[in-house]
Amino acid sequence: MGKQGEERGGAVSRRTLVVAGAAAAMGLGLMARGDLGHAWWRLPRDGEPRSPGAVDFAGAQWVAASAANYRRADRPSDYPIDMVVIHVTQGSYRGALKVFRDPSHEAAAHYVVRKDGHVAQMVREMDVAFHAGNRAYNERSVGIEHEGFVDRRESFTDAMLAASARLTAGICGRYGIPVDREHVIGHVEVPGTDHTDPGPYWDWDRYMRLVRRARERGAGAAA
Ligand SMILES: [Zn+2]
Repeated sequence: MGKQGEERGGAVSRRTLVVAGAAAAMGLGLMARGDLGHAWWRLPRDGEPRSPGAVDFAGAQWVAASAANYRRADRPSDYPIDMVVIHVTQGSYRGALKVFRDPSHEAAAHYVVRKDGHVAQMVREMDVAFHAGNRAYNERSVGIEHEGFVDRRESFTDAMLAASARLTAGICGRYGIPVDREHVIGHVEVPGTDHTDPGPYWDWDRYMRLVRRARERGAGAAA
């Protein structure tokens, strides 16, 4: 997890410009506020239309993060995705969903994996979630949170690791990301971070083996 208020600058102003342009073109008076929100993604370079509740990982439950905790984008066209960042929540699944839905939290990950293997998707992969505490890494990565605590070995259940591995395998498959430790990294490995997750009990050898196996089976295809 990671706060980063500095994330909010650039793209918001770009989007504001696009919306302002649409409003000018169509006549401000004719467009209700809701129409503005609906119309901006139809414009060129603003990404594909989104279906409410759609997920990128089959079987994930959609639980929308607050729009303040991510930035709408059109990945991988505007930013290539070449990394998965592994996090541990330092708390419960329920707690992670709660803070990611809170507009004052200033952070969210794309996914949260529960200890029984249940997966919530909170930000679409095309969007830039604020999870790594590093703008460039956020723009190029998908962030996965895992319920639990870095200093508790029992946090890392077989069910959670297996589900997470399928999820990471699917992400690697969708964007052609190599399944190796250069491209599947821990939050602790993000430059500039002061976070230690996923911590000493995250078994990287085992996890990467599970990801490779899931990748070979073709698991985790797009929903
Ligand atoms: Zn983290």
